[in-house]
Amino acid sequence: MIPESSVTAGPTYPFDEALPAPGEAIEVRPGVHWLRMPLPFALDHINLWLVADGDGWVIVDTGLGTSTTRELWDRLFANTLRGRPVTRIIVTHYHPDHAGNAGWLAAKTGAPVCMTTGEFLTAHAVRDDAAGHDNTNAAEFYRSNGLPLDSEGQPGMLSNSYRRGVPELPTRYQRLMDGDRVTIGGHEWRVICVFGHAPEQATLFCESLGLFISGDQVLPRITTNVGVWGNQPDANPLAHYLGSLERLASLPPHLRVLPSHDRVFEGLHDRLAQLHRHHEDRLAKLLTACDMPRSARDVLDVLFRRKLDDHQMRFAMAEAVAHLHLLHAQGRLTRIEEGGVRRYQRA
Ligand SMILES: [Zn+2]
Repeated sequence: MIPESSVTAGPTYPFDEALPAPGEAIEVRPGVHWLRMPLPFALDHINLWLVADGDGWVIVDTGLGTSTTRELWDRLFANTLRGRPVTRIIVTHYHPDHAGNAGWLAAKTGAPVCMTTGEFLTAHAVRDDAAGHDNTNAAEFYRSNGLPLDSEGQPGMLSNSYRRGVPELPTRYQRLMDGDRVTIGGHEWRVICVFGHAPEQATLFCESLGLFISGDQVLPRITTNVGVWGNQPDANPLAHYLGSLERLASLPPHLRVLPSHDRVFEGLHDRLAQLHRHHEDRLAKLLTACDMPRSARDVLDVLFRRKLDDHQMRFAMAEAVAHLHLLHAQGRLTRIEEGGVRRYQRA
């Protein structure tokens, strides 16, 4: 996820600067609580949600599977949850900061884990280097997009860090599907599956509470990573992402949005418009840069000004390829493949 530079108007923040303290919660609507867990990355936190469900609680997203997060969960069980049972654990998508404690919490509470099939299976595949989530495909993906590994000293680009963030996964789940209506505490939440950031991310919309749990799809100040990866090297995820944003534009305008990172905000439609402009701007810059054949590696500095470490380089390559693929699918760039390396030029 990349910080955005030129935001002028847009989201407003109903809780101003207030943030949940470690191991504590802020109630964002009656019965709906905002938790914040630390992450050991540049993006240093994730938001999780706790929704009152009769005499119990539904947990939405679980945090990275570290001892720090688990100690905070134990504190939450002792105070905020007040000894009441957990009825369901909803995981929006497979990424480690969301799914990292799903197995641990399920074992601890006996509650079922609810996920889409795309996210459940991808979690297991990534954790097991299966279904093409392996280094051979990753290395070939980088090479074919102009970055032969070891050429620039990037040993970390192939390491599978998923298992570190997700020490265990549930082996059973309850399937969530697009359009499902999930009743929590007498309120109906509609599952809206969104695409581009993860295979089948679930977001949750509750009309009666005026809330939208947006996962990583819509964040107020940073943009969501939308990338192509080695097991699906011809994918066009930016088309899927922008299509999902268009679908979210049909949600009512006055919702309170609960994003996985940064603050709770209002002004969903302004933010959606900003995100469209952000990607249009990047696509235009890439078109300008591709006045002669360029690989994704060649255009990284068009999209990312700062020096990238290995971790950031993985996401930067994935994003650069995603933008090039959209332009190519639209016929605005042609693709030239030479020596197994893909380069793009203005059509
Ligand atoms: Zn994510």
